[in-house]
Amino acid sequence: MIPLRIKIEADADHPFVIRLRSFEGGSWQKRPERLNPFDVALQHAGPEGADYAGEGGSIRVFGIDPSEVDGDVLLVNPRRGTADRLVRSSSPHNTFLVTERCDQVCVMCSQPPKKHHVNLFPYFETAALLAPEGATIGVSGGEPTLFMEQLFAFLARVLEKRADLSFHVLTNGQHFDEVDRDVMVSLDQSRILWGVPLYSHDPAVHDQIVGKPCAQERLLENMAFLCRVGASIELRTVLMQPNAAGLPRLARFITAMLPFVRIWAVMQTENIGYGRMNWKTLFYDSSAGFDAIGHAIDFVRSRGIDARLYNFPLCTVPEIYRHLAPATISDWKRAYRKECDGCSLRTRCGGFFEWHPRDHGYSKLGAVQ
Ligand code: SF4
Repeated sequence: MIPLRIKIEADADHPFVIRLRSFEGGSWQKRPERLNPFDVALQHAGPEGADYAGEGGSIRVFGIDPSEVDGDVLLVNPRRGTADRLVRSSSPHNTFLVTERCDQVCVMCSQPPKKHHVNLFPYFETAALLAPEGATIGVSGGEPTLFMEQLFAFLARVLEKRADLSFHVLTNGQHFDEVDRDVMVSLDQSRILWGVPLYSHDPAVHDQIVGKPCAQERLLENMAFLCRVGASIELRTVLMQPNAAGLPRLARFITAMLPFVRIWAVMQTENIGYGRMNWKTLFYDSSAGFDAIGHAIDFVRSRGIDARLYNFPLCTVPEIYRHLAPATISDWKRAYRKECDGCSLRTRCGGFFEWHPRDHGYSKLGAVQ
C-alpha cells in the first residue's frame, strides 16, 4: 500500500507545510526559479534518510525514495516525527480529511465519526495552493459542512488564487441553509462537484441507513437549494442488501424529483469501519444479481442523467456496463487478488480495496481473457 504518512525528523516546535523538491542529483540552488518559500530541495540522500532544505526549513525524510515524493506537499508534525502527504504530486487521488465529526451514523461508514476535531483548514489552504497544475482535490470527513464557514472561506480563497484547481466535496447534505445562498452563488460552482448520498426513495430506509430521523426530508430540501444556487451534484448511492432491490424505484425517484443531478454513482461497499462490522448484513453480491442495478442505471441514462458504477471489480459487471465503471478506488488503497493474474482488464480495473476480505464475497469473479 502507498504510505500516506512518512517518518521524518525536523527541528521545529510546531506543525508546518512544505513541498519537497527532489531535483535529480543537484542542489536546490541550481534551480532557484522553481522554488517558492514553501519548497525544500533535496540536499543529500543515503541509507540514513533524505535531507531537504530551503526557506521553509529543513527536514530529513526516512524510508521512501526521494523520486517518489518529488513535488509532494507535506504537513509536518515535528513532535510526532511524522509527515502526512497531503498532496501526492503523481496521484489524481488527493483528499483532505477536514474533520472526523459527523451528525449521521451510517451503517456502512468507512470512517466512523469521532468527537475530537482539530482545525487544519489553514494547512489545507497552503497545501492546495501548492498542488500541481490542474489538480482536483477531494474534501471529505466526517462531515465537512459542520464547519461551513471555514469550508466556504477555504474554497473561496483557493478557487480565487488558483484558477486551474477543482474540488470534489463529499457532504451528507444536511447543513445547507438559505443564509448560505450568497456565498454559494459567489463560489465558482463550475469547479466544485458536490458528492451527496441518497440511499433510497423510501425515507424510512434512507433514514435507517444513515441513523438519523428525517434525514431524507432534510436532504431533499437541501438538494433543491443546491439546484437553485447552480451547484453540480454527484448523487451517491452505496449498494447494500437493505437498498439493492429498491434501486429501480430510486432511479425513477431521481429522474422525477432530482433531474438536475449531473451524475448518479452506484457504489460498492468498503469493508472497513462500520462497513466491516455490518458486512454480513450489508454486502450485496452484485456479480450474482446485477438486474436491479442494470435496470436502474438504464432508466436514469434514458432520461439524460449520467450514471456510473464506483468501486466495482470489472469482472463482476456485465460487459455492456463496464464502460460505466471507472477505476475509482484510490491508488493508495487499491489491491488486486490472485484471481487477477493474467486478466486483460487489469490496466483499467480499480480492483479491490486493500482491506477487502480474502473470501471476497463475489460468487462470480476472475480474470477476463
Ligand atoms: S480479475 Fe481482477 S483485474 Fe480482472 S476484472 Fe476482476 S478484479 Fe479486475
